[in-house]
Amino acid sequence: MTHPIQTTVGFQDSEPFRFECASCGETHEGIPSFGWDFPAQYLAVPETERAQRAVLSDDACVIDNEWFFIRGCLEIPVRGYREPLNYGVWLSLSRDSFARYSASFDDVNRHQGSTYFGWLCTAIPGYPDTQLLKTAVHVRPWPSRPFVQLEATDHPLALEQRDGVNPWRVQQIVERIMHPRHR
Ligand SMILES: [Zn+2]
Repeated sequence: MTHPIQTTVGFQDSEPFRFECASCGETHEGIPSFGWDFPAQYLAVPETERAQRAVLSDDACVIDNEWFFIRGCLEIPVRGYREPLNYGVWLSLSRDSFARYSASFDDVNRHQGSTYFGWLCTAIPGYPDTQLLKTAVHVRPWPSRPFVQLEATDHPLALEQRDGVNPWRVQQIVERIMHPRHR
């Protein structure tokens, strides 16, 4: 008699995540990753002043040489699937943390282990305000973006990260973010 391999129990990787969308009628495949191109504070800088005051790349943003932001992965486990739902969010770090983080950013030999305190600087739709939630930002081996762990609170986003979500909830999130006009 054969037994399922222990590590695959409860996972359905042979069945990719997909669902028929109630908003557009198409079949959406794959657990999505939603990313933001800049921290919320970047938008607060008047457009005409951004070139002067802000430095922005895919992974970092500095405003007025005083506010320091990095990009990380806020992952939500999805029950029954290996792949998490990922929010590509921005975090505000102290000047000192940002300097240390940046020093290892391009190091292909970097190890995980370093952790920095960060304020969440992305407004994720579908939750009570997510801005300025407290996080621990865990550095991962190159080239992965850091893993963002929310402080343990009863904020719905923190609870979802702690407990994971059901596939129907992923479906709801996908529909809300991909088709905001339908809401
Ligand atoms: Zn759709």
